[in-house]
Amino acid sequence: MQEIERYARHVLIPDVGMEGQRRLKNARVLVVGAGGLGSAALMYLAAAGVGTIGVVDADVVELSNLQRQVVHGVADVGRLKSESAAQRLAAANPLVRVVRHDVRIDSANALEIIAGYDLVLDGTDNFPTRYLLNDACVLLGKPNVWGSIYRFDGQTSIWWAQHGPCYRCVFPVPPPPGLVPSCAEGGVLGVLCAAIGSIQAAEAVKLIVGIGDPLVGRLLVHDALRQSWDTLAVHKNPDCVVCGESPTVTELVDYQDSCAVTPLADAGMPGCSVPAAAGGAVPQISALELADLLSDKGASSGVLLVDVRGGNERAIAGIAGAQAIHLDEFRSGTAVSKIPFDQPVVVLCKVGLRSVEAARILIEAGHPDVRSLQGGVLAWVDDVDPAQPRY
Ligand SMILES: [Zn+2]
Repeated sequence: MQEIERYARHVLIPDVGMEGQRRLKNARVLVVGAGGLGSAALMYLAAAGVGTIGVVDADVVELSNLQRQVVHGVADVGRLKSESAAQRLAAANPLVRVVRHDVRIDSANALEIIAGYDLVLDGTDNFPTRYLLNDACVLLGKPNVWGSIYRFDGQTSIWWAQHGPCYRCVFPVPPPPGLVPSCAEGGVLGVLCAAIGSIQAAEAVKLIVGIGDPLVGRLLVHDALRQSWDTLAVHKNPDCVVCGESPTVTELVDYQDSCAVTPLADAGMPGCSVPAAAGGAVPQISALELADLLSDKGASSGVLLVDVRGGNERAIAGIAGAQAIHLDEFRSGTAVSKIPFDQPVVVLCKVGLRSVEAARILIEAGHPDVRSLQGGVLAWVDDVDPAQPRY
């Protein structure tokens, strides 16, 4: 009886009714990422009465998450996101079973985890996991309700190889490392997560109940500045490497081991802070080594610090005395003439990915002594100057 009252506004909808609500109760949805998209999706899936909700996340809540990850609160900072989210969902709807997966999903565990669910909701923020989830869903025949956000732009679609294109059909090749900044580096309008994440939840509910036209074969593109929503038709690619006629991807690849396909490794993938895609390794310097170098008056006399971040980032945290030369100036070639070649250079950014790209450009231009600050300004804040904010 309590259930009927709780879900009355669903049951009243003729297309949902008791049968639809029963389907929701019997459904098992896996939400990968309890971040911005996951926050909105998780809250509404739980409220809707999806009987089993899996939450995959190995990260802990950080203060800078709270601007958009509304499933977590101030008291949750430092806790596992999966734990925080599970507690919040239990408070919202104790009738829902929440299954925590406190792991980073990878090629070794993805199939086993996903196999226990009816559909996947991709709330991740990085390309390796997106390709991994896509491939796993294709191999298992599960629908993948995908969303993506950056600054003011959002995209969402359902990848379901049996009925339409998969993610690889539409995005066959990841962008080159460093080309696309992550939300961690580029920023995102917090409420955009709610817009896209709730659409993902709506699509999941539609699939479960079996109503309406799912976003299969359609890419929904949202621009929050123009407040526009456009729908693009997307098609299955017969040559797709995973769902095409002659697939070459027949098992999962551990993308996290291959920095060549981890452009968003910057978001926090261990072991991938240095893209190895081209030109060999760039020499690194740790924050502590740099602090020693700068405090050693004799040796530091010649070191030039170059900060390749934008002004908004530099206003939050930085290293005193660094010269600001934006990464775009390295890419366009104008930075090289601004930097003396007879002086050691340390390049820095937020986490040490953009700085590697800039350092490589300097090295290729013939500079003999360039290093990249490993872990970037965040490492500097953690290890040397904790009074500054993280972001
Ligand atoms: Zn495909």
